[in-house]
Amino acid sequence: MTTRSGTAPPDPAAAQAHEVMAVLNGLLPATRPVGLHEPRFTGREWAYLKDCLDTGWVSSVGAYVDRFERMLAERCGVARAVAVVNGTAGLHIALLLAGVTPGDEVLVPALTFVATANAVAHCGAVPHFVDSESRTLGVDPEGLERHLQQVAVAGPDGPVNRDTGRRIAALMPVHVFGHPVAMDSLNALAARWRLAVIEDATEALGSRYHDRPAGSLAGLAVLSFNGNKIITTGGGGAILTDDPALADLARHLTTTAKRPHPWLFEHDRVGYNYRLPNLNAAVGCAQLEQLDGILTAKRRLAGLYQEALSGRAGLAAVTEPPGCHSNYWLNAVLVSDRTARDALLAAGHAEGLLLRPAWRLLSTLPMYQACPKAPLPVAESLEARLVCLPSGPALAT
Ligand SMILES: *Cc1c(COP(=O)(O)O)cnc(C)c1O
Repeated sequence: MTTRSGTAPPDPAAAQAHEVMAVLNGLLPATRPVGLHEPRFTGREWAYLKDCLDTGWVSSVGAYVDRFERMLAERCGVARAVAVVNGTAGLHIALLLAGVTPGDEVLVPALTFVATANAVAHCGAVPHFVDSESRTLGVDPEGLERHLQQVAVAGPDGPVNRDTGRRIAALMPVHVFGHPVAMDSLNALAARWRLAVIEDATEALGSRYHDRPAGSLAGLAVLSFNGNKIITTGGGGAILTDDPALADLARHLTTTAKRPHPWLFEHDRVGYNYRLPNLNAAVGCAQLEQLDGILTAKRRLAGLYQEALSGRAGLAAVTEPPGCHSNYWLNAVLVSDRTARDALLAAGHAEGLLLRPAWRLLSTLPMYQACPKAPLPVAESLEARLVCLPSGPALAT
């Protein structure tokens, strides 16, 4: 079809991509490429690393590990933090601490990074995928309640999936892109259904849910300090809890289950080598000292995106849920449909803006295709329409 002037009618997907690119080009630096979330090292990272090398304390014991753990616990409003090699390892141990055993099912969102489900699989357990809500991008409590009423029956040790016969042991919600999930409703649901709760707070350091820090909202929580997270230790993570016995057990399991002794090698179970090295913790201390500045910069960038994207038909910036304070780890925009998403991703990459889609739903990945799942209409719609925007802390300072 041609218009009267003889040109093709405008392609709505291309037009939307063009519109968003104009906004992004107006806000972002002209030097390209612009990554999705580049780290910034403008504090005492060099000094602390040098101190590790000068003193020889580089490995899994050292003053920076202790200090990093104390700083994290204080920041997140919990009694204890146990630093680990990465967030996935932290989730693995947290699931074990929550009592997840081989053959159990663990409820996780389909719309999350693959590590959430991998940690479940590392326990010999099975991820059971549930839907999200568009207000938080996280697990939808009402949808989950409806789903459990359909598939779960009470068993001696908690609910049992009547289709698979497996116990449903735990729920692991995620604060997607740093936006706090509806944690009060999920905790209440978990109490009714006798589910353990592990907070996957790997994206949410610095976020607050009704004035309570992310990481303090369930009995167990996990942070990540991967290179693209809000602060980084190169690779790293932490398990957070108020329960000193759980924290001690986490430390024990992550240090090869070695019983304390000045020289003997006594190990009392199959343990893991998951402790964070002092070198990484040194970077973590320097990064954590800068967290407030990073959060301010990121919230400023989020505000600029929201203002520039507002009032445009078929476009919506993702914003923090009511009553919550998000770290805006990743800014995101929702476009009209998958075609518009793909057009925007391609346009971004052509101009050196390394835009990313949401994760492919985990329930569609080959190793998780056969896992149990709830209907996922909201997660599917979000996955089709969401584009993550450059969000590094250096972009708005
Ligand atoms: C980053 C992340 C993890 C895992 O953290 P790593 O440190 O990369 O192992 C787990 N879950 C979610 C949702 C994440 O974004």
